[in-house]
Amino acid sequence: MSHSFSGGCACGAIRYECTADPVFSWNCHCRDCQRASGSAFCPVSYVPKTAFSSTGAITYHEVKAESGRAVRRGFCPQCGSPVFILAELVPDLIGVWAASRDEPDQFQPAVNVWTASGQPWDEMPTALPACPRAPTDAEMQQILDTR
Ligand SMILES: [Zn+2]
Ligand SMILES: [Zn+2]
Repeated sequence: MSHSFSGGCACGAIRYECTADPVFSWNCHCRDCQRASGSAFCPVSYVPKTAFSSTGAITYHEVKAESGRAVRRGFCPQCGSPVFILAELVPDLIGVWAASRDEPDQFQPAVNVWTASGQPWDEMPTALPACPRAPTDAEMQQILDTR
C-alpha cells in the first residue's frame, strides 16, 4: 500500500506531491548537509521521480559530496527553504526534506549516515543503525531492503 504525501517551502511558492512511498529515508550528518541546513543533519526521504511532481521555481546549487559524487540541492529562491536533493548516487530518485512535508511526523528514518561528522550537541537516536561515512554498496542494499 502506498501513502501519498505533499509539502512545500516556507513561503508556499514551491509545492510538491508524491504518490509513492519513499524508497528510503535517512538522516545525513555530513558536513555538507550541516552547512546546507544550518543544523546537525539533513532528514530526507528519497522517492521515485516517476511518482513525483512539483510546481514553482526551484534554484539548484550543485556541490561535490565528500563521496566525490555530485549533489544538487534545490531550494526556494524566494524564501530560501531547502526542499529537494538530486543525488548522483540515486539518479532515479528525488530527495525531499522531511520538514518540508505537510505532515512531517510521517517521516521515518531507517538509518543515520555520516555519523563520523555528527555534532556533540545533537542527540542521535541510538535505536537506528549508523554508517560512520557514506554507506557502502552492501550497506545501501541493506537500507533498501528494510523499507
Ligand atoms: Zn518559498
Ligand atoms: Zn549529507
